[in-house]
Amino acid sequence: MKLSVSWRASAAAAVATATLLTSGSMAGAASKADVEAAAAPDIPVTNVKAHLTQLQSIATANGGNRAHGRPGYKASLDYVKAKLDAAGYTTTIQQFTSSGRTGYNLIADWPGGDTNQVVMAGSHLDSVSSGPGINDNGSGSAAVLETALAVSRAGYQPTKHLRFAWWGAEELGLVGSRYYVNNLSAANRAKISGYLNFDMIGSPNPGYFVYDDDPAIEKTFKDYYAGLGVATEIETEGDGRSDHAPFKSAGVPVGGLFTGASRTKTAAQVAKWGGTSGQAFDRCYHSSCDTTSNINDTALDRNSDAVAYAVWELSE
Ligand SMILES: [Zn+2]
Repeated sequence: MKLSVSWRASAAAAVATATLLTSGSMAGAASKADVEAAAAPDIPVTNVKAHLTQLQSIATANGGNRAHGRPGYKASLDYVKAKLDAAGYTTTIQQFTSSGRTGYNLIADWPGGDTNQVVMAGSHLDSVSSGPGINDNGSGSAAVLETALAVSRAGYQPTKHLRFAWWGAEELGLVGSRYYVNNLSAANRAKISGYLNFDMIGSPNPGYFVYDDDPAIEKTFKDYYAGLGVATEIETEGDGRSDHAPFKSAGVPVGGLFTGASRTKTAAQVAKWGGTSGQAFDRCYHSSCDTTSNINDTALDRNSDAVAYAVWELSE
């Protein structure tokens, strides 16, 4: 998107100028590091959509869903893991059991950074059994994947340690993420400086909702949207209903983005964001029509860029 690229380029230039003015003889080295830290890349929405196409194909080939305990879930996990392994991530599959079936979380660590300060971004990879789950939550899964791949492409070496996660069995009650958090030692839990959650970020009649849990993370996302000139609202529909909840309960600062599910978009929201008033943000929520047609490309594009922006900003 042109607006975000030009805004970001000028922000990076401003940082570079400020560094040159303030850091004297160290300006050469320092400004290079600061510019790299400030310049989160634009995430190509075509790449994000290509991941969604793959997830749709996986669902189609596996009975129409990617649900916990079904072959479409494991195939989704294998797809994401292969991309991360090829990009240089250290990946771990964590197994658990729910409803008598084996579930899987995928954790990907980007080598480097201070492992006493871990920035995590995650999304649930399972769908409900009634549909392919492309907005819920192929959208978050694909944006987090493409951000992780962008970290690799950029050779980004942040101060903090980056960890990405794809959760299993969210639709059964946050089972995978709860298992992960419960199995962290208190010491390792304390090392997570923030967890960012992305669950439904390409809704077809989108709103732009920001979690209001941790003020610093909330401000990061709001700054990004202010730069685009897009209004945001506080997220309330999904409170406690996604994978940030176990982290929050454990005392980890959390944040995230959301474009709306079954709630209805109001006329006031249409005035802000466009779309259709009196209609749900996602009419295909948890339905068989949650396919690749159930995605608003502009929302997916903006939010994918926002994922990268926050990952860069919070880890530099
Ligand atoms: Zn979801």
